[in-house]
Amino acid sequence: MSPEFDTVFINANLATLDPKIATPYGAIKDGALAVKAGRIAWLGQQSNLPAYRAKEEIDCRQHWITPGLVDCHTHLVFAGNRAKEFEMRLQGASYEDIARSGGGIVSTVKATRAASHDRLRDESAGRLQEMCALGVTTLEIKSGYGLDLETEMKMLKVARALGDTFDVRIQTTFLGAHAVPPEYQGRKEAYIDLVCNDMIPEIARLGLADAVDGFCEEIAFGPAQIRRVFAAAKKYSLPVKLHAEQLSSQGGTKLAAEFGALSADHLEYVDEEGIRAMAKAGTVAVLLPGALYFLGETQKPPLKLFRKYGVPMAVASDCNPGSSPLTAPGLVMNMACTLFGLTPEEALAGMTREGARALGLGDEIGTLEIGKRADLAIWDIGHPAELSYWMGQNTRPERVFGGQM
Ligand SMILES: [Zn+2]
Repeated sequence: MSPEFDTVFINANLATLDPKIATPYGAIKDGALAVKAGRIAWLGQQSNLPAYRAKEEIDCRQHWITPGLVDCHTHLVFAGNRAKEFEMRLQGASYEDIARSGGGIVSTVKATRAASHDRLRDESAGRLQEMCALGVTTLEIKSGYGLDLETEMKMLKVARALGDTFDVRIQTTFLGAHAVPPEYQGRKEAYIDLVCNDMIPEIARLGLADAVDGFCEEIAFGPAQIRRVFAAAKKYSLPVKLHAEQLSSQGGTKLAAEFGALSADHLEYVDEEGIRAMAKAGTVAVLLPGALYFLGETQKPPLKLFRKYGVPMAVASDCNPGSSPLTAPGLVMNMACTLFGLTPEEALAGMTREGARALGLGDEIGTLEIGKRADLAIWDIGHPAELSYWMGQNTRPERVFGGQM
């Protein structure tokens, strides 16, 4: 009896990103892909497609199908923006000038605290819509601009609500240990007490976060403080990840690996010992070229060492108002290549397979494989390298989410 599918995509080129397929990009030219009940039920060379029955057949006219893009590190939910501060900086204002005029992260905290749930949702929805239109089907969103329980919960609820409204899968991350809130200036330990004893238990109880993150840096929190946050997360069985080694070497990466972190992110200043620890723990390196570009930093993450130790590299937008106001995945991939030296294949893997792995979703999404969720992007391109090549991404894909166009 011939198999029955919901949808069959024919006359397609597939960039499966499946490492078991030995071609670059795991490519299958002249392929077809069948979907049943929201999952990939068959894929391969079209000439091998068995006789089938399907509710719908879509002629892809030799366009390329990739896994839907995964943006595994964003701060997409925030109120206001920092364009004025950007302008001041380029007019020559110092960091202190900007801080004194009320700029910096504190300005985003103020705006986010003041915004209602609906206002915050509406401001964030525009950014999400843009990312979805450009091929993103899974996105991580962090809290971290509330720095009090009420606003942190509001941010996470807005993130969850966005996932219910749009055809996109949202993973939420609690980032209470992002910065010291103004009312705790000079009292970092007391704020970490609040994060560990009040915020994490309540957020875990309400199921608002899929993971816990922190910012390990001189200007934020030290490894000993992050260790306390991770221990609290562990108590509630929440996986951890960390902003580590972005501006200096603090040893955060080793700490993250010790806690079996899903990912360590930024990593411009990570050393070989940290990378060895990541390899052993299976921690993904999340590279964020947008922040390096926007801040005009020059220290690049050590790609050669990640490759040497087989540490998987994900690539993400870091979408945030202060250091990476970026909503274009194509530009993220382009910058990963031009600024960091990834190959276009590594960049695409970084926003599909490895991005999924960084979210703990590697078995569910991120490659085209039988049994995985049918989250797809269908691109009018001649070669998958075009996805990293065009600056600013001129190509808007057709998007399939859970098998639905
Ligand atoms: Zn970040």
